[in-house]
Amino acid sequence: NLSDKLDKALHLLKGHGKITEVNVAETLKEVRRALLDADVNFKIAKEFTVRVKEKAIGQDVLTTLNPGQLMVKLVKDELTDLMGGETAGVNLTGNPTVILMAGLQGSGKTTFSGKLANFLKTKKAKQVLLVGADVYRPAAINQLQVVGEQIGVEVYAELENKNPVEIAKNAIAHAKANGKNTVIIDTAGRLAIDEALMTEISNIHKAVNPQETLFVVDSMTGQDAVNTAKAFNDLLNFDGVVLTKLDGDTRGGAALTIKSVVNKPIKFIGTGEKMEAIDVFYPDRMADRILGMGDVVSLVERAQEQFDEEEARKLQKKIAKNQFGFDDFLSQIQQIKKMGNMKDLVGMIPGAGKALKDVDIDDDAFKGIEAIINSMTPLERTEPKTINASRKKRIAKGSGTSITEVNQLLKQFFQMSKMMKMMQGGGAKKMMQMMGG
Ligand code: GDP
Ligand code: MG
Repeated sequence: NLSDKLDKALHLLKGHGKITEVNVAETLKEVRRALLDADVNFKIAKEFTVRVKEKAIGQDVLTTLNPGQLMVKLVKDELTDLMGGETAGVNLTGNPTVILMAGLQGSGKTTFSGKLANFLKTKKAKQVLLVGADVYRPAAINQLQVVGEQIGVEVYAELENKNPVEIAKNAIAHAKANGKNTVIIDTAGRLAIDEALMTEISNIHKAVNPQETLFVVDSMTGQDAVNTAKAFNDLLNFDGVVLTKLDGDTRGGAALTIKSVVNKPIKFIGTGEKMEAIDVFYPDRMADRILGMGDVVSLVERAQEQFDEEEARKLQKKIAKNQFGFDDFLSQIQQIKKMGNMKDLVGMIPGAGKALKDVDIDDDAFKGIEAIINSMTPLERTEPKTINASRKKRIAKGSGTSITEVNQLLKQFFQMSKMMKMMQGGGAKKMMQMMGG
């Protein structure tokens, strides 16, 4: 993928003590090839390398002590600029604020509508109304209702009405009458751009005059994503882009090209199917991620949001008093699971992304562990030392695992407790601060 290729290209320079004009040119050629392979538009990739080269010459890469690092920085800065430089917010000043979703079928509109509703509700204390204006498939409205239920946000739908323009207008009236200050309209999509779809979304757009029209696009679709973006932008002059499915393998290509083709900022990214898998888009962090440095800041931020601070303090006390038991262990696992897809999180750790790329880490990894802990009695959880051979047998049976697995978990647990005790003071505190602030 793009990260690997850029890494390789830049490695050409990293290793060398002496840099010549020739190997700077070589390196940039590789960078350009990596960009092209990642579906970055030809013209953009070319201009990109020209700009980096100009800067490199201006900064005298050839004579600096650490030219490799300087090149990485120049490439990173250029990537950041290409993706818009600054983070762009959403305009929430309407009364109510109307946010319209547009995009092809399967791009992730319905999922993202839910994620955004949840985000605005929890982060910005907004009263949100979700609107189902995808009238073609009964399942579409149902999908939105399931999402709404999950996040505790009302969903407005009219099952008998097949006119999305009317539904959207009625929904806004409903929002006004019911004290909702934010309306998110989920619309229908087609598999490809066609006349009927474009007319429909354009009519809804005209009728509701949204503060924010967000174009939702699947980042895995590469160059197609860019073409679709252009067509939608010509029609709607949208305000921002949402890049979904960035948890997949294809990272970067679409993100790098869209901004310069439609000249609209990427505002959010989707990184998984869960409602929490939404991030504000930061061009510089994305550049880091593309360069394989890992998006550590996002990772820590997400961990902080999910990890209850009170919980963290309690845990710290328990560790200090040597009272850490299996119940705490279980709640740790649940906290980790709440943070989202494991692979996604691991991918954000610098270096780990590559090392663990082929290792299958998923939520199921915890299933056996949870089953074992759930089969323990409360006493066994707080005093694991009381678990003897016959109890192990019973726990294995109750959890559908084997005695070996139970033994393994106990061993891990005792090792962990020992380590926690040892780390008490500096290390443990630091770890907890990272997790819980
Ligand atoms: P819509 O047709 O535009 O409304 O798309 P949906 O919201 O129904 O999403 C299509 C599929 O993509 C569903 O299976 C979603 O679960 C999935 N999906 C949406 N966003 C993401 C994401 O950020 N990451 C991953 N992995 N899957 C996503
Ligand atoms: Mg949908």
